[in-house]
Amino acid sequence: MSESDVDVLVIGSGAAGLTAALAVREAGIERVLVAESEGVIGGSSRLSGDLGVEYYEQLVFGGDETKPRVHCSIVRGQAVVDVLARHCRDRGVDFALGRRIDRLVTESGAVNGVAVGDDVITAGAVVIATGGFGNSPEKLAEYFPSAADTGWSWYVGADGSRGDALDLTRDVHPQLAGRDRGLRLIHSDLDHIYEAYLPGWLVLVNREGRRFCNETAPYGNMDGLMKMQGDVAFAIFDHPTLEEATRLGTARYKQTIPGSSKKQSPHWNHDVIELMIKEGKVHRAQSVADLATLIGVPAEHLVATVERSNAGAEAGEDADYLKDASFLERIDSAPFYAVEVRTATVAFTACGLRTDRQARVLGRDGRVIPGLFAAGEVAAAHAR
Ligand SMILES: Cc1cc2nc3c(=O)[nH]c(=O)nc-3n(C[C@H](O)[C@H](O)[C@H](O)COP(=O)(O)OP(=O)(O)OC[C@H]3O[C@@H](n4cnc5c(N)ncnc54)[C@H](O)[C@@H]3O)c2cc1C
Repeated sequence: MSESDVDVLVIGSGAAGLTAALAVREAGIERVLVAESEGVIGGSSRLSGDLGVEYYEQLVFGGDETKPRVHCSIVRGQAVVDVLARHCRDRGVDFALGRRIDRLVTESGAVNGVAVGDDVITAGAVVIATGGFGNSPEKLAEYFPSAADTGWSWYVGADGSRGDALDLTRDVHPQLAGRDRGLRLIHSDLDHIYEAYLPGWLVLVNREGRRFCNETAPYGNMDGLMKMQGDVAFAIFDHPTLEEATRLGTARYKQTIPGSSKKQSPHWNHDVIELMIKEGKVHRAQSVADLATLIGVPAEHLVATVERSNAGAEAGEDADYLKDASFLERIDSAPFYAVEVRTATVAFTACGLRTDRQARVLGRDGRVIPGLFAAGEVAAAHAR
C-alpha cells in the first residue's frame, strides 16, 4: 500500500462515501481521499450516522412498513452529511471536490487507482460510492425501464447521480443486480415538485374507472400497485373538497413529517388546479359520467365507483381498502375533477454492483474484483 499515492480512495461524498471514509480511518488506515464530482459534499444522502445528529422523537413511515419506524433528523440529510464530513475532516480524511472520476486504473485485473483525464491517483483500494443513476435518462432506459417508460419520468435526487459507476467499472466486468428496481413515486405532471404522498382525500381509479388501493398506502407499496394498473391512474375529487383542502392550508397526508407541518400541498390546491385546467392537465366536468368520457374510462364504472366511495364516506368506513375514515370525502358536488397520475418521480435506483458482505465488488465470473469496493445506492445487493 505504501507505494500508492493514497491508501484508500473513495469516489463520492454522499452518506455512503463519507461513512466508508470514516470507517477506513477508524480502522487505522491513514491516507484516505474522497473524490467528489460536484462542488459540494453530500449527494442525495438522507442516511444517518449516530455521531451527534439530532433526531425528532416522532417516527414516520419510510417505505412500505406497516408501522412508522423511520427517524427524521432535524435539518434532514444535510445534518447527517455535515456531521459525517466533520468527523472525516477531524480524522484527516482529504477531499477533492469538483473531481469527476472518469476511469479506474487497473493492473493485472486489480483496481489500483482512478483517473480524471491525464491525472492519475494510485490507491491501495478504491471504494465506489457514486450513488444511483436517476439523473441519466439513458441509464434509466437501460437499467430501470419501468421508470423511463412512464413517459413523464423525472428525478428528485442529486445532479451527480448519473450512474458513473456503471461506466467506470465496465472494463472490470462486475456483476450487476437489481435490474429494473428502484423507487418511483406518484406524479401528477402539474409541476416538478417532490411530493412523496398523495393527500388522503383523493380517490384513485385505474383505466377501468375502478379503485384499486388505499390512496394513503406507503409509497413503497404504491409503486407496485400502480405497476399493476399499467402505471397510469386518475385522481378524482369534487369542488368542495378541493376548496376545503385549500382553505385549510395544510396537506392532509396520512403522515406528517416532523418539522414540515402547516404546509399546503404543492399540487393539490385551488390555484394550481385552476392553472392546470388551462394547460389541459386537469379535466373538469359537470357530471361524473362526463368526467369519465373526458379521461376515457367507462362512464358506468366511474359512476359506480364514485357511488360506492360516497357510501363509504357516508358510513365512515372504507370497506374495500380500509382507508382511514378521516380521509373519506363524498364526491357529489359539481364541478368534478380528474387528474392523470403516473409513477414517474424517480426517488432512487436499485440496479448496481453486486458485492459480498465485505462490500467487495463481485465479477461476472463470481470472483472478487481485487481492490474494488462499493457502498450505498450504487451497491445493488450482496451475495448470500
Ligand atoms: C427526496 C429523496 C428522498 C429519499 N428517501 C429515501 C428514503 O426514505 N429511504 C431510503 O432508503 N432512501 C431514500 N432516498 C434515497 C437515498 O437518499 C439515497 O439512496 C442515498 O442518499 C444514497 O447515498 P449514497 O451515498 O449512496 O449516494 P449519494 O448521496 O447520491 O452520493 C453519491 C456522490 O457521488 C458523487 N459522484 C457521482 N459520480 C461521481 C464521479 N464520477 N466522481 C466523483 N464523484 C461522483 C455524486 O456527486 C454524489 O455526491 C431518497 C432520496 C431522495 C432524493
